[in-house]
Amino acid sequence: MKVDGKCHCGEIEFEAEIDPARVVVCHCTDCQVLSGTAFRTVVFTESDGITFKKGEPKIYVKTAQSGNPRAQGFCGNCGSAIYATSVGDGPKVYGLRAGSLRQRGSLIPGKQVWRQSALSWVDDIKSLPAVQQQS
Ligand SMILES: [Zn+2]
Ligand SMILES: [Zn+2]
Repeated sequence: MKVDGKCHCGEIEFEAEIDPARVVVCHCTDCQVLSGTAFRTVVFTESDGITFKKGEPKIYVKTAQSGNPRAQGFCGNCGSAIYATSVGDGPKVYGLRAGSLRQRGSLIPGKQVWRQSALSWVDDIKSLPAVQQQS
């Protein structure tokens, strides 16, 4: 499935070929800190399945729990998270941050990972009072 996305400020625009069956919610603590929220929604590209149309992401390399380095691509201007991928040469699969994709509304997660660090309230938000906009 072809998708396209951009960062919040618009300096970075990209297209990607993703597998809509591979959408996951990640509750790992790195995703919590890096996204600034409770969990992250990630969709995986086909191998080398991303093309940048405008701009280049800034890269931050973190060490994953596995010990492997993971390159985090984000906009150096507005900070929007774009992807994570492996470090080094060879074909790469990109874990796209679904929020940066125009088609995010139609990408439905099929699995949760790192459930052991999920925040205690995530399953309960449906029962919270809800307003359609702020306040
Ligand atoms: Zn930006
Ligand atoms: Zn994660």
